[in-house]
Amino acid sequence: MRRVTIFGSTGSIGENTVDLIARRPGDFEVVALSGGRNVARLAEQARALNAGLAVTAYPDCYADLKDALAGTPTEVAAGPEALLEAATRPADWIMSAIVGAAGLMPGLKALEQGTTLALANKESLVTAGPLLMATARRHGARILPVDSEHSAVFQALAGEDIAAVERIVITASGGAFRDWPLAALASATPEQAATHPNWAMGQRITIDSASMFNKALEVIETHEFFGIAPEKIEVLVHPESLVHALVGFRDGALMAHLGAPDMRHAIGYALNWPERAELPVARLDLAAIGQLNFAAPDPARYPALRLARQVMETGGLAGAVFNAAKERALDAFIAGEIGFLQMAEVVAAVLDRVSRENRLNTAEITLDTVLQFDHLAREEAAKVIRGRKKT
Ligand code: NAD
Ligand code: MG
Repeated sequence: MRRVTIFGSTGSIGENTVDLIARRPGDFEVVALSGGRNVARLAEQARALNAGLAVTAYPDCYADLKDALAGTPTEVAAGPEALLEAATRPADWIMSAIVGAAGLMPGLKALEQGTTLALANKESLVTAGPLLMATARRHGARILPVDSEHSAVFQALAGEDIAAVERIVITASGGAFRDWPLAALASATPEQAATHPNWAMGQRITIDSASMFNKALEVIETHEFFGIAPEKIEVLVHPESLVHALVGFRDGALMAHLGAPDMRHAIGYALNWPERAELPVARLDLAAIGQLNFAAPDPARYPALRLARQVMETGGLAGAVFNAAKERALDAFIAGEIGFLQMAEVVAAVLDRVSRENRLNTAEITLDTVLQFDHLAREEAAKVIRGRKKT
């Protein structure tokens, strides 16, 4: 029996993880599950998987969760402290699938226990990559990538020497607005942005796919996780989302990873690593698919990619500022306070303001400084947003 914990079990990645685990009763002991306000679903999962502990991130949801799990052996807890406590409970594998910087602290806590961390929460690598990687090293813990592109790169690198890598290419579908005229983007709504052509994902990452902020985060994630120089990382638009990433070696060979756009592939790879177990994902019929298309991303359409380059050049805490500003700008877009194109403007303005006033790349990267700059960036973003609100 492998002991597993899932942070963010009620989300899109969480549900896919639950699905894989529920298919193999007897193989896994579920130590803990965590969710947010979707208490009914969290309780349902806890019952189905006979979880030892169910945690809601929100203290005001405690009573509802307690009621929903009355008469079951599942322990109930609530709040950020309870999440950290859950991360200390002995487990062999922990899925980090909370959305946003809120996933950072539980992930760090899990690594401090030496637990293998399956990392879907890319924001924690963007926000505090060096801290996360150093914590893993110090405690002998392993991080397994779950983002589909990074899982693909990880698989292409199996048995290879990272020193022989010339470039890493991660693909992007182009998102909901790939074929929209540029002029129409200004008036794109959150509902329109939250429709993905190929992947079924949570609302926030789907909107980030339309703006390419998701790919921007992933470029930084690639840099932090694989320790690859920024100039060796490329983004390629690939509308079919079947090739997830390619790794180019110094002999000119390019190893591509293909698979159906189903997150259970990357999750299942991390869950079963270092073995490959059978997974319930569709098999590709390339003859039926016929052709795959590729294009260079248009810089005018996707300013987020340029911002990612700027963040990697600056280094230090720029990632924490970038992610926090992006999260705040996304909140404002979802709330109808700013337009679609203004998200990148807000993030650019915050990076500019914070770097002018602070020594972004000289401060040591600790949990304290990360949280400090995350907070500062959100405050600055709020100011910029107030100044630009749609009328
Ligand atoms: P989601 O919105 O569907 O689910 C998020 C989960 O986090 C839910 O369980 C929610 O209750 C919980 N949560 C939200 N805010 C929280 C907070 N403040 N504290 C504690 N818990 C909180 O998101 P998702 O699409 O499953 O994405 C999860 C993570 O995985 C993100 O980092 C995302 O970038 C990454 N990811 C997702 C996909 C995908 O296919 N959905 C693919 C690659 C990477
Ligand atoms: Mg991805």
